[in-house]
Amino acid sequence: MNLGSYVCGAWHQGRQQGVAMRDASTGEVIAHASSSGLDFAAVLKHAREVGGPALRALTFHERAGALKSLAKRLSELKQEFYTLSYRTGATKSDSLIDIDGGIGTLFVFAGKGSRELPNARVYVDGDVEGLSKGGTFVGQHVYVSREGAAVHINAFNFPVWGMLEKLAPTLLAGMPAIVKPATATAYLTEAVVRRIIESKILPEGALQLVCGSIGDLFDHLHCQDSVSFTGSAHTAASLRVHPTIIRHAVPFIAETDSLNSSILAPDAVPGTQEFDLFIKEVVREMTVKAGQKCTAIRKALVPAAVVEHVVGALQAALQKIIVGDPRAEGVRMGPLVSQEQRNDVLARVAELRREAELVTGTPVHFEVSGADASRGAFVPPMLLLSRDPGTARAVHEVEAFGPVATLMAYQDTADTIALARRGGGSLAASVFCADDALAGRIVLGLAPYHGRIIVVNGACAKESTGHGSPLAPLIHGGPGRAGGGEELGGIRGVLHYMQRSALQGSPDSITASSGRWVRGSAVRDPGRHPFRIPFNDLELGDTLRSGEREVTIEDIERFAALSGDNFYAHMSEPEAARNPLFGGRVAHGYFLISAAAGLFVDPDYGPVLGNYGIDSLRFVKPVKPGDKIKVRLTCMAKSLRAEKGWGEVAWDTEITNQNQETVASYQVLTMVSIYAVPDSQGVH
Ligand code: NAP
Repeated sequence: MNLGSYVCGAWHQGRQQGVAMRDASTGEVIAHASSSGLDFAAVLKHAREVGGPALRALTFHERAGALKSLAKRLSELKQEFYTLSYRTGATKSDSLIDIDGGIGTLFVFAGKGSRELPNARVYVDGDVEGLSKGGTFVGQHVYVSREGAAVHINAFNFPVWGMLEKLAPTLLAGMPAIVKPATATAYLTEAVVRRIIESKILPEGALQLVCGSIGDLFDHLHCQDSVSFTGSAHTAASLRVHPTIIRHAVPFIAETDSLNSSILAPDAVPGTQEFDLFIKEVVREMTVKAGQKCTAIRKALVPAAVVEHVVGALQAALQKIIVGDPRAEGVRMGPLVSQEQRNDVLARVAELRREAELVTGTPVHFEVSGADASRGAFVPPMLLLSRDPGTARAVHEVEAFGPVATLMAYQDTADTIALARRGGGSLAASVFCADDALAGRIVLGLAPYHGRIIVVNGACAKESTGHGSPLAPLIHGGPGRAGGGEELGGIRGVLHYMQRSALQGSPDSITASSGRWVRGSAVRDPGRHPFRIPFNDLELGDTLRSGEREVTIEDIERFAALSGDNFYAHMSEPEAARNPLFGGRVAHGYFLISAAAGLFVDPDYGPVLGNYGIDSLRFVKPVKPGDKIKVRLTCMAKSLRAEKGWGEVAWDTEITNQNQETVASYQVLTMVSIYAVPDSQGVH
């Protein structure tokens, strides 16, 4: 039976029987995948005309809320996914990375979306750029949702995480997704998508699934669409030059093969904690997901002097790995995903063996637990040794996408950096080193060629997430061979699915389009103290202009006594006079912002619940005894937390002196109730 594709609001079975998907351990056929008969132009249209508008009607916070609900719902169904995941060859701990890791990514983006994005549809990028002397012409970058479909083409190795790590930032950006899983493991992705669609948490059209080929979909792409691809460099190279991608400059984000290095630093000699950590990590990276991880260690670089020690330690550890059906007791490493992958890996190992010696793992004779070795896609962990990697080629270019790594001897730090860079651009590197200064030099040598670099030593090993784990808050991707793309990285990953636009115009025009009040825009006297106005009634530009206060020498001395800050510039006239910035005693900057609060705060009980910080504080000009200060406080940005009964309000705040010069500038961050008179339950 064919798997279903969910497109245009319904499940479709392909017209013809498609490609067979098999259980990785037993070879039993699970299902077929075919997208024959699908109208791909209609699929794109559905995303653009149904899913896109529905998502864009939601704010960032509402989309984040949907991601959270989805993560909770999928968490309840994990057991069902684990059971199916065994069929891909994954052990339980492999499934935790794929399934729990994918759900965890949804949670992270839900959290970041509601904390770091406004409850709005436009994301304001950076500060206003002054473009004119008189201040009537300014610039502001903003991001808006792209109005097309995000096409996600995923690799077979992480059928759940691979989908969710792209889906979370895409949906948060307000873009609908069309997911095409790799055929070999599409049955697991399909099961998850069925549950997502059943949950009705996402608006219709936000997620479509194509099992099987994507047919002529690329021919129908246009400039608002995007493609995010994970898979081999070879496939990426052919897809990114598709005429439609080129003609319409369709963004094409690629995450591809990578020959990732792990470096044992010269200080990490046998007997040190870092040496043991390195051995453990190489074994883990070779065997987790049977080495089918784009970030796995392929090149283990070790000082020439300790090569034999490393070979011995790795042989001993790898011999303990029990290979077999992941459902069988005690199995540590499952099979590869399919017989095709097994053949591919064995062919790649044969290529590597022309330059490197196989020191562990014989591809023909090894034990398989709980399964018939001839039916499943089993291979043993295989370790190669390259004694002269500087003159070798294949060990830097050939990726065997399985439990395969090559040990390489290096001479010195410059040599190890050069060897790691021969990967031609990689996703990840790790450095096992207790000497932070040395690690720092290695890291900076690796950084131009690597998307992520992890330094492991005794100080962080216990809590380290390891060489091979991409993390939602950090970017995943790498230059050159790794595809040149970038995903995840917190909100950075969301912005790939949005369009940045530079707005220019008068401050009022910029305020109107960005949804954030900018200096120079009209200010408004709301007729009452802005602290008496509930959240929903506050308007951008609502302003309070305070009365004046003279700053005296007594103020400075009393503030010094109260705070304990007796810095000479405040307390000693002769020393302050010698200071080239001040030329005499000045008020504490912190006194100024305290005095400003005294000038603008409305003391009575009301909708302002609290102040949770200050942003962008700058002391612009010193204030001397006798100066007179006053404050302007303007409602600059609002973000509603509907479920909490309050919203965040940022107030643009400027303290000026008697000459109308700005002496301090900052944003006061407050929580403002939606009720004029809130009570302890958060209601009026
Ligand atoms: P692949 O053969 O390149 O396939 C990747 C995806 O592209 C699959 O969904 C595949 O669908 C699809 N595809 C293949 N030909 C296509 C075409 N002509 N038009 C549209 N889609 C096409 O790679 P794979 O074997 O699945 O994955 C293994 C490789 O992926 C390894 O080399 C690994 O390094 C790399 N990888 C990289 C990352 C990363 O984040 N950088 C992550 C995981 C894997 P079908 O399955 O239906 O052919």
